[in-house]
Amino acid sequence: MSEDKACQSCSTNSCSSQGKRADESMEEFQERQQLAHRLGQIRHKIIVMSGKGGVGKSTVAVNLAVSLSLAGKKVGLLDVDIHGPSIPTLLNLEKQTAEIGHNVIQPISVSDNLKVMSIGFLLPSDSQAVIWRGPLKMSVIKQFLKDVEWGELDYLIIDSPPGTGDEPLSVCQLIEDADGAIIVTTPQKVSLADVKKSVNFCHILNLPILGVVENMSGFVCPECGKQVDVFKSGGGEKLANAFSVPFLGRIPIDPDIVHSCDDGKPYVYHYSHTETSKAFGRVIAPILEMDRKNKELPVIKNKEDGKMRIAMPVAQGQLCLHFGHSEEFAFFDVENGQIKGKQMLTPPPHAPGVIPKWVHEQGATIVIAGGMGARAVSLFEQQGVHVIVGAPGHTPEEIVAAYLNGTLETGANVCDH
Ligand code: ADP
Repeated sequence: MSEDKACQSCSTNSCSSQGKRADESMEEFQERQQLAHRLGQIRHKIIVMSGKGGVGKSTVAVNLAVSLSLAGKKVGLLDVDIHGPSIPTLLNLEKQTAEIGHNVIQPISVSDNLKVMSIGFLLPSDSQAVIWRGPLKMSVIKQFLKDVEWGELDYLIIDSPPGTGDEPLSVCQLIEDADGAIIVTTPQKVSLADVKKSVNFCHILNLPILGVVENMSGFVCPECGKQVDVFKSGGGEKLANAFSVPFLGRIPIDPDIVHSCDDGKPYVYHYSHTETSKAFGRVIAPILEMDRKNKELPVIKNKEDGKMRIAMPVAQGQLCLHFGHSEEFAFFDVENGQIKGKQMLTPPPHAPGVIPKWVHEQGATIVIAGGMGARAVSLFEQQGVHVIVGAPGHTPEEIVAAYLNGTLETGANVCDH
C-alpha cells in the first residue's frame, strides 16, 4: 500500500498511525498502517476462545457468525487455527482456495453477509501436516489481519485455537481494539479449570470478556423429552459468576449439531426453529445489542441530585479526534442541564485501560470523543462511563452545549483502531 493511501479511516494528524515511529522500518510502518486501515473498516472484533479442544468452540464461532449474518449484519469469520482449521469443514468449504494478490487475500463468500477466511483455503490439501513455529504463526496471522479484503464489516468473529498459545496472543497483540473474548466451555470441572486459564489470559492482556458460553449443557432425550445432564450443568454459569463476567447461556447436546457439523450445514440456518437454535439466539442477543448500543447516543443520566460530569479529550483548544493522544481533558460540571464549571486536567501517560480508569476517578459519567476503538469504548463502559463517538472537532464548550440541548450531531467513529 502506498503511504498516501494509508489509514483512510482517519483524518486526524494527532493519530499515532499517521507517523512513523523512530524504532520501525518503512516496511514495518506501512504494514502497521495497512493493518490499521483494514481493522478500521470493522466495527466489532470478537475472539472466540476455549481452554481446551473439543468443547465446541468452532461450532459456536460458526453459529454465532451465521446468526449475526442472518440478522442482517455484515460478518467476517476468520479461522486462525493454523494446526487444525475446522471452519472450512463446518461450512462445507473444503474444496475452496483463496485468491491471493499483492497484499490482498480474497475471503470466500458464503452469502451476501458472510465471508470466511481460513488457513485451510491456502493449503494444498487438508491432510497436509503443517509445522509452524511461533514467529511464523504471528506473521501468518498478521498477514490475514492486514491483507484479507473483507470490506466494511459489522463483526469479525475470530475462531482461535484452544488454549492460550501463540495464536490468541498474536491476535490480541495485533488487534489493539478488540471488543473482547467469548469463552466456550463444557460444564464439567476439568473443562472449567481450563477456562480459568483463559480468563486470566484475558485479564493479563486487558482483553474484555464478553461472556462465557456453556456448551453441551444437558441432553434432551428425543424419545421422552427428559433432560439428562451428561456433563452436569451450570458449571460455566458458576464460573462466570465467580469471575464476575457475563454468562451468555447454555447450548444443549444435540445430535443434529453433530450432523450439521459433519455435513457442513450451519445448524442455526438448517434447524432454525428448534430449542437449540433458540439457545444460540439467546447467546447472540447481547452481541447484537452491542452494535445497536454503539450507534445510539446514550441517554443523559443525571445523578439523583441533578448533577453530572462530562469529560472530553482536547488538543489545541478543540476536541481531539483520538482520545488516546490528547494533551488534556476538559471536565464539565453540569447541574440540571446547565454548565456550572469547567476544569482542564492532564491525563496520565497513554497505556491500555489507564485513561478510562482515570476519567472514572475524576467523577465523569460521560466521555465525548471524535474517534475511539471499540476496545477502549468497552473499557470505559466497564468503568461506568458512557461513550459518545463521532463528535466534531469544535471547542469543548460548543460540543457540551450542543449535547445538553440535544443538537449534537455525531458522525462516523473517525479513528476506529
Ligand atoms: P472445538 O472447536 O472446541 O475443538 P468443535 O466445534 O470442533 O470443538 O466441536 C467438536 C465436536 O463436538 C464436533 O463433532 C461437533 O459436532 C460436536 N459438538 C459441538 N457442540 C455440540 C453440541 N452442543 N451438541 C452436540 N455435539 C456438539
